Amino acid sequence: MARTIIPVTELRGPLAIPPARPLEGTALADPRGRTLRDLRISVTDRCNFRCVYCMPREVFGSDYEFLPHAALLTFEEIVRVATVFHGLGVGKIRLTGGEPLLRRDIEKLVAMLREALPAVDLTLTTNGSALKAKARALKAAGLDRVTVSLDSLDDATFRAMNDADFPVAKVLEGIDAAAQAGLGPIKVNMVVKRGVNDHQVVDMARHFRGSPHIVRYIEFMDVGSTNGWRMDDVVPSAEIVRQISSQFPLAPAQANYSGEVAERWRYLDGSGEIGVISSVTQAFCSSCTRARLSTDGHVYTCLFAQRGYDLKTPLRAGADDESLRDAVAAIWQRRGDRYSEIRTAATAGARKVEMSFIGG
Ligand code: SAM
Repeated sequence: MARTIIPVTELRGPLAIPPARPLEGTALADPRGRTLRDLRISVTDRCNFRCVYCMPREVFGSDYEFLPHAALLTFEEIVRVATVFHGLGVGKIRLTGGEPLLRRDIEKLVAMLREALPAVDLTLTTNGSALKAKARALKAAGLDRVTVSLDSLDDATFRAMNDADFPVAKVLEGIDAAAQAGLGPIKVNMVVKRGVNDHQVVDMARHFRGSPHIVRYIEFMDVGSTNGWRMDDVVPSAEIVRQISSQFPLAPAQANYSGEVAERWRYLDGSGEIGVISSVTQAFCSSCTRARLSTDGHVYTCLFAQRGYDLKTPLRAGADDESLRDAVAAIWQRRGDRYSEIRTAATAGARKVEMSFIGG
């Protein structure tokens, strides 16, 4: 029988929101000097895939209890929180999940965010399964770009990894539809797990080079506590770059902006670029500017956090904008997270919040 897990926040309770401190200067910085720039919003903890490294079916089975609808932040609440974060320096918002396109009327949320925050960079990460149907509406609502997850071009490998028997061809159709709708340049995320899809690294590069899409290879991470992570399963980015470069020579490229998560590499023949995200072998905590809002309205200051701060309770109790702003500022001002810098086999086994709940 499948084991049921419940969100960590419910196991140990949320962290207490610290008292506000006066804001100094204009940019909100944590004690390590990291400014708050990005917000990832998980709009649902549900997904139609059961990727083995993210929502393994033996845990997220038919008896898994997802959040009840009333626990989810409403669109109005999400926009309100996003506006508070924007007022504190956030210029980039990513909708994620779970699978964000499963949230009913997601394009309405996009439109509401766009109206409230016209200048914000608004993006979404999706498994691509519903992208063909939704791409045009998302663009019309004001979405800037999408990132699409695709772990293999080999159909059997992909179906086994998503554990939902979902074919590669439909994700590729979704990518095409998104490009036609103007949601590019599209980033294609591939999580590389040794012995599972590492034989697909070069094929993926071959397929997308020469196109406007950018493949980003992600090291398999110890997010959550259900994916059975082991260091042996991680394929270091340096190895990925070596593999690709032996076929299609690569050279390092300048970061687009400071704090960019992916390290860029360009093809020497001018046929585009790839990115590598090395959260395990080259921690980038020191430049992390991201906060996360979970599906049920908790703020997390690290992807590997064990607990978050409950913003939904004050939100629903009628807190005004100023006190929400003070709460978020106080959380960020005390942020000490640097999990990837201190990761060990022991920390990897700790009970951390699941990625589907906090948002990837
Ligand atoms: N459902 C959407 C999707 O598939 O893109 C959004 C949510 S998903 C959690 C966001 C991203 O996190 C995906 O690109 C996924 O591959 C990545 N991801 C999930 N678990 C991971 C892990 N253990 N290590 C590295 N990346 C992971």
